[in-house]
Amino acid sequence: MECIFCKIITGEIPSYKLYEDDNVLVFLDITQGTKGHTLIIPKKHVKNIYELDEQTSRDVFTVVPRIANALKKAFNPIGLNIVSNNEKPLQSVFHFHIHLIPRYEDDGMKLSTINNYGKYDSDYFKKLVTAVQNYL
Ligand code: AMP
Ligand code: ZN
Repeated sequence: MECIFCKIITGEIPSYKLYEDDNVLVFLDITQGTKGHTLIIPKKHVKNIYELDEQTSRDVFTVVPRIANALKKAFNPIGLNIVSNNEKPLQSVFHFHIHLIPRYEDDGMKLSTINNYGKYDSDYFKKLVTAVQNYL
């Protein structure tokens, strides 16, 4: 098994564990992009969001508010970003994970969407809706 997160689950590689249950492991991200930067992973090896089954999805997303609130109480951030990188080149570890990134004044993190408000007409929006609904 070459997956670094599977090795963390078995204990072959050490980690700073915050929480564990039968299906989920929560531990500190080694890079600590901000204080308390945390990863939530399923114990089941799933490559990324595109391969996540509904039960495993329930397992990992269920614990997000609990961990978010614990980080809030522990570190008093001004807020929190939730991020998941999927597929190359965004994703570097191919075992699904959710980043919880507490945010602080002047933490230097740049994480925002681009505001294209007003750039597109209603036809454009309708085409996007149809494009997605074709596959739901
Ligand atoms: P990404 O796949 O880009 O969402 O990022 C994977 C994340 O895993 C990075 O933020 C790494 O810092 C983190 N990471 C990689 N190896 C370890 C490890 N051994 N312990 C904790 N975090 C890790
Ligand atoms: Zn794995």
